[in-house]
Amino acid sequence: MNNKQDILAMTLDELEKFIDSIGEKKFRSKQIYQWLHEKRVTSFYEMTNISKSLQDKLNENSIITPIKEITKLESQDGTIKYLFELIDNNVVESVFMTYKHGNSVCISSQVGCRMGCKFCASTIGGLERNLSASEMLGQIYEINRISGKKISNIVIMGTGEPLDNYDELIKFIKIINSEQGMNISQRNITVSTCGIIDKIYALAKESMKITLAISLHAPNNEIRKKMMPVANVYEYDELIKACKDYVDITKRRITFEYSLVKDVNDSIECALRLSKVLKGILCHVNLIPVNTIEERDYRHSNSETINAFKNILEKRHINCTVRRELGSDIDAACGQLRRSYNKSNL
Ligand code: SAH
Repeated sequence: MNNKQDILAMTLDELEKFIDSIGEKKFRSKQIYQWLHEKRVTSFYEMTNISKSLQDKLNENSIITPIKEITKLESQDGTIKYLFELIDNNVVESVFMTYKHGNSVCISSQVGCRMGCKFCASTIGGLERNLSASEMLGQIYEINRISGKKISNIVIMGTGEPLDNYDELIKFIKIINSEQGMNISQRNITVSTCGIIDKIYALAKESMKITLAISLHAPNNEIRKKMMPVANVYEYDELIKACKDYVDITKRRITFEYSLVKDVNDSIECALRLSKVLKGILCHVNLIPVNTIEERDYRHSNSETINAFKNILEKRHINCTVRRELGSDIDAACGQLRRSYNKSNL
């Protein structure tokens, strides 16, 4: 198994090369690609327009990386949280959400995370490993298979830092966006990052129409450092400059995520300062009342404070919404399901 190729992670070009390398005709690649990404089979033996000998050959040389549902939690509002087991028994979380504009899936990009954000449950055990593009796809394919629901939006906002797993992320986007695959529009894909500047520039050069979301969470470096260790590496002003450059290069509106934490980043001064920082940037601010996690004593701001914060931004013509809470009855913050599973299986 160990030297079998990860066929699900291959773009169509890569698949053509692979098919050629095992001595098969190129036109087979498109058929196989469609079986994998449009019909989303989990075995080569379901590929009914392919000979048994080619099925055997594919099976000998490659693997359709498996992903298995362990448990799911369903909310009254339609949100479903899934816990999946990977080939090496690691587990990851994904979330299915319904919105007026369609169904959305939030996927993980890594097993654990090494970014260390103080309010986040996903980072507590550190980084275990990157997910392959096939494991990112697998979360979506499996949710589609289990729920039977059409998925039109993808957010890469689950466990992990997607820009810390850059190459697999780009492959994942290319495959999920491909016409012979799920054909999800790039405009319906959001990548959320804690702000790895060099990778923001790399992403800008990919000329993709995806939405970039920056987990900013603070109006200056001082407060950001308290919440996010990554701010010790990437200066606040340089991050803001990278965001401006990203918008200039891609002409895409950027999203800033701002989790409001009581007495940490939710004051009137913070709102005023943030307005100044974001002035003139083509952006949208997502205010998120921080989700309390057991291991940390961060509390979310009360609704008056949240409204006051929002009003200040809006008065200064900064586009802003307070994130609707989904699935609040099935859990709390991101990464908690995986964490409680890992704890109980120690
Ligand atoms: N590493 C990426 C993506 C994963 S986190 C990033 O940092 O953007 C997805 C979003 O959830 C980020 O904005 C993150 O800051 C936020 N988040 C994490 N834990 C949270 C919590 N307890 N409450 C509110 N938002 C949280």
